[in-house]
Amino acid sequence: MFEPSDLINLVLSTVTARPGAAEAIQATMQRATEFPSPVQAQLAGIALHPAGRALAEHTLDAYWADRSRQDDLLATASQTREVIIGSGFHAATYAAIRVLSGFAKPLVLERGGRAGGTFAMTGHPTFYVNSRNRPGGAGLAGDQGAGLNVLPGAPIQAANLSMAEYQTNTDMAVVIRLALAQFADVITDAEVTAVSGDDRDVDIDIRGRRALTAGRLIDARGVGDPTAKAAANGTSVLTFNPFMQRMAGPWPLRGVRRAAVIGGGDSGKCAVEALLGIAPPPPLAAAALDHVDRVDWYAETLPETCDDWQNRVRGRYQAIGRYLRPDRFGVQRLTVIDRQAQPIALPDAVLIDGRTYDLVVLCTGNREAEIDGLGARSFTAYSLAGDMPVARKHVGWPVYRVGPHARLSFTDVEYTTGIADTPANAVSMFRTGPKTAALAASLPSTDDI
Ligand SMILES: Cc1cc2nc3c(=O)[nH]c(=O)nc-3n(C[C@H](O)[C@H](O)[C@H](O)COP(=O)(O)OP(=O)(O)OC[C@H]3O[C@@H](n4cnc5c(N)ncnc54)[C@H](O)[C@@H]3O)c2cc1C
Repeated sequence: MFEPSDLINLVLSTVTARPGAAEAIQATMQRATEFPSPVQAQLAGIALHPAGRALAEHTLDAYWADRSRQDDLLATASQTREVIIGSGFHAATYAAIRVLSGFAKPLVLERGGRAGGTFAMTGHPTFYVNSRNRPGGAGLAGDQGAGLNVLPGAPIQAANLSMAEYQTNTDMAVVIRLALAQFADVITDAEVTAVSGDDRDVDIDIRGRRALTAGRLIDARGVGDPTAKAAANGTSVLTFNPFMQRMAGPWPLRGVRRAAVIGGGDSGKCAVEALLGIAPPPPLAAAALDHVDRVDWYAETLPETCDDWQNRVRGRYQAIGRYLRPDRFGVQRLTVIDRQAQPIALPDAVLIDGRTYDLVVLCTGNREAEIDGLGARSFTAYSLAGDMPVARKHVGWPVYRVGPHARLSFTDVEYTTGIADTPANAVSMFRTGPKTAALAASLPSTDDI
């Protein structure tokens, strides 16, 4: 039976008390018997209804940011407590499976002001995920019968939130955040800066806060920080996250007629979709005012023609291809330019190879977010029975890297099922989520170490 946490109860009572938002719950209660429990039906109702979701999100943010609650948590944390760095999909997966396996709630430390990781980078939807919306439980990579965006153990799943083939980042974010609300204690604005330890416990330094000792540390730092951060200026040259934050605000493309995107990975594709108007729409924008005439996409190895795009690029991104040919007025809005580019910001424009742009988005990849003491070389692959690597373990301390941050190579099964044919699958939830869940289910209690 699902027993809601105090925070989930707070969300439920806050939403039920607000008339417009309370409707959210009523609609799903018609189908309550199809959910694992009535509370989970209520949560799905809240997440499906815009006013209900907005109020729930606000309640979570305010609760997690409360400074006196945060200070109490840090002051009273026991030395055997499990602590997680980061509050994304993997933090939520680890916490959910840990609690459902009978262990105490982990403490989650998130450096940002909003918990939820990559998918929660905006509160308003700005990009579509690239794994199809399918019902079902989590499965091994390549299992066609399994759901792909499943967060193991979460109170509600993304497949409860829409029937769209590809869901938005904020649909995933609300699933992650409700899982954290149920299964973890979360502290936002808590950046871990240094870690030291021995074979029993670890000391964790948090910027501007008291230090903490933990019995185990789960390092779920995600895909890292943008490599091109230094080249961005915050206005006309943006990395992916600030660009998406701009797209979540009103009139995000005001004054942008010519734009460039540098980098051809999934972030680059999502940025191009946003500029072409085929991403989730901004809260306030209109073609008459916010139309980008021309997008130059500096990306090596991407198809340059519509036909080639349709043959070589996976389904989720097919819509981009039609902008690679002229429309019936002879205007081609998107051009792929097969080379690297270095933008130079001028006072009123950005220059790339002699062409000027109003906005340049840098999507050239990420590198590890630094934490003293937790360098990659101190970690080795950690496998469970059957020799399946599920994480990386520190050579001397009880610290585990999970998710994309563990950089686990593709397994033989992933090669034979074709999962490894798409390099972006290295970081996909359906590949890495079950591994983190397996780790959480199998580690002993920190009291027993
Ligand atoms: C544009 C884009 C689209 C994607 N689409 C998909 C998709 O469709 N399907 C899919 O499976 N995967 C997708 N991914 C990949 C997916 O987002 C990641 O695999 C997943 O979010 C990783 O989850 P995580 O919990 O490991 O890390 P994240 O969600 O990245 O969370 C890590 C958190 O750690 C925090 N952090 C970092 N350093 C510190 C520190 N020192 N102290 C405290 N906190 C810290 C960060 O602020 C962040 O909130 C996409 C990624 C991007 C960028």
